[in-house]
Amino acid sequence: MEVLVIGAGPAALCIAAALAERGVVAEGLAPEDPQQPWPNTYGIWAPEVDALGLAPLLGHRWHNTVSWFGDRLGGPAVQHGIDYGLFDKAALQQHWWRQCERAGVAWRRGRALAVEHHAGGSTVVTEAGERLEARLVIDASGHRSPLVQRADEGPVAGQAAYGIVGRFSAPPVDPGQFVLMDYRSDHLSEAERRCGPPTFLYAMDLGEGVFFVEETSLALAPAVPYDVLKDRLLRRLSHRGVAVEVVQHEEFCLFPMNLPLPDLQQRLLAFGGAAAMVHPASGYMVGALLRRAPALADAIAQGLQQPALPAEQLCRRAWDALWPLELQRKHALYRFGLEKLMRFSEGQLRAHFSTFFNLPPQQWYGFLTNTLTLPELIAAMVRLFVQAPWTVKAGLMGMRGRELALGLRMLFPAGR
Ligand SMILES: Cc1cc2nc3c(=O)[nH]c(=O)nc-3n(C[C@H](O)[C@H](O)[C@H](O)COP(=O)(O)OP(=O)(O)OC[C@H]3O[C@@H](n4cnc5c(N)ncnc54)[C@H](O)[C@@H]3O)c2cc1C
Repeated sequence: MEVLVIGAGPAALCIAAALAERGVVAEGLAPEDPQQPWPNTYGIWAPEVDALGLAPLLGHRWHNTVSWFGDRLGGPAVQHGIDYGLFDKAALQQHWWRQCERAGVAWRRGRALAVEHHAGGSTVVTEAGERLEARLVIDASGHRSPLVQRADEGPVAGQAAYGIVGRFSAPPVDPGQFVLMDYRSDHLSEAERRCGPPTFLYAMDLGEGVFFVEETSLALAPAVPYDVLKDRLLRRLSHRGVAVEVVQHEEFCLFPMNLPLPDLQQRLLAFGGAAAMVHPASGYMVGALLRRAPALADAIAQGLQQPALPAEQLCRRAWDALWPLELQRKHALYRFGLEKLMRFSEGQLRAHFSTFFNLPPQQWYGFLTNTLTLPELIAAMVRLFVQAPWTVKAGLMGMRGRELALGLRMLFPAGR
């Protein structure tokens, strides 16, 4: 076969579908049925799917999108003025699955254990002892992949969240509302607010009396434990006079925010979580999958049309298409920014986000969706710095720990 894709999550289906569309002979390998429902739900800024003509894949769409960055209940909401959506995850899965099915992309059941490389391609060894040959192997098995090599750059921060989908004694957020970040914290003790990890509420009205509420820590190493998040969520609700009546689903969310880039010289290509494609400042990835798969699939399809092209060069071209220099530099900048935010106090974070969402919408939206060019991203960050209050400026200026090294990475990306 030409390409073997490891995994059956969003990244695997997305890249397999893009390859199938280009006539590449691909197969998948995963322990589960690729049509089995995914465990996570995926949110996205709606204009990202609008721009791709995929708005029908949204199961929910909110126009009333707000945040709070004050310190206590009441206070003005920040109106974002940009729609937010939640994918209908079955529709998203089917969207990619149908493209694979039409082109005859089949999935084998199994778990990749090791990968070996040779001049003509690579061999994946499965747990069951099978040896699967392909000219190119793409690891889309998520951020825990032991096969993808990357530098060890110290502690990796996790975005952790505990959420409940259910019914409540009173609406936890306004009807029809989506709350991106509610940082109000007057349900916590003074000591918790001063020394505890800053966390916020992410919440939405799912209609018909059902709401999703989730206590979230943007990023911290080590990650905030679930019991702390659950306790805070219940206290936050109780402070508003809201009790949980029916729990339909509990979400335990944990994934790395600032994974270093993979080694871009390696012979195993990666895509999705395994390729550090999660946005280091926001935690989002599905928009990036949808935007970046076509260029990667083009590079692979073109390479495969040259039978004499050594497998090593095919892989190199694919890595270049996935992580061009500009994206590597932006990734470095985002990681640098996140490193700063992780040591901000709750007060600094509230002031920071208040300034951030006061930027022109195209700047904060472009920052969060990674759709700005590098100069535009730098311009947004400079503007943020200029407009930020002194407490935030001071936090941004001091260099601690690995911040300087991460900042320099923008000039000298590690991938080359
Ligand atoms: C709870 C949660 C909520 C999230 N919410 C959002 C969100 O709202 N919006 C957003 O954009 N992003 C979100 N993310 C971030 C990111 O989009 C997800 O982590 C996403 O699922 C990553 O996709 P993936 O396909 O790379 O990996 P995964 O979804 O982790 O899929 C990995 C696949 O590889 C398979 N696999 C694993 N090991 C092997 C092996 N050895 N051999 C073969 N197959 C293997 C697994 O069975 C699975 O099929 C969220 C993450 C989490 C954890």
